[in-house]
Amino acid sequence: MAIAYIGLGSNLEQPASHILQALRELSQLAQCELTGVSNSYRSLAVGPGEQPDYVNAAARLSTDLSPIALLDAIQGIEQFHGRVRDIRWGPRTLDLDMLLFDTLQMSSERLILPHPRAHERDFVLRPLLDIDETLCFPDGRCVVDCLHTADANGLRVLQTSNELWQPLRG
Ligand code: AMP
Repeated sequence: MAIAYIGLGSNLEQPASHILQALRELSQLAQCELTGVSNSYRSLAVGPGEQPDYVNAAARLSTDLSPIALLDAIQGIEQFHGRVRDIRWGPRTLDLDMLLFDTLQMSSERLILPHPRAHERDFVLRPLLDIDETLCFPDGRCVVDCLHTADANGLRVLQTSNELWQPLRG
């Protein structure tokens, strides 16, 4: 079994419910077990133009899937959420990134591991630390150290990890 970390982000209306639903869908993926959930955070949108705030979180999966099969699975979840509100070029209904897959380092047309921008974003690093405060990237840089130099996006805790886990257990 491999351990994979998935970053979740949404900035459409009611983004917190997209995040919660996506966590449920991750927990129901075949050949996967959800073994960790971060707090969820509200963060300021990165990039030009007016955009609503984001809600971000991270999840840890134990999986028997290959990296590409897991990418297919999370893209399937993204597409399902994309159909809820089909706004072209608009804000993200749901963005799922594969942040880490064990200590695998790879770069192919469809998949780059670790995720190329994971180490520079506080809305990725803080949730990862919630799940495992000793987590490090395959190149030896540790998440806690990266967080010191990461861009600050005004993170505020929205829901604690326990609050997110609760409905998933039901
Ligand atoms: P984005 O719209 O920023 O989520 O980018 C999606 C594209 O990034 C897709 O075409 C994926 O195949 C590609 N991609 C490359 N590496 C990753 C990764 N680690 N996690 C998720 N998508 C990735």
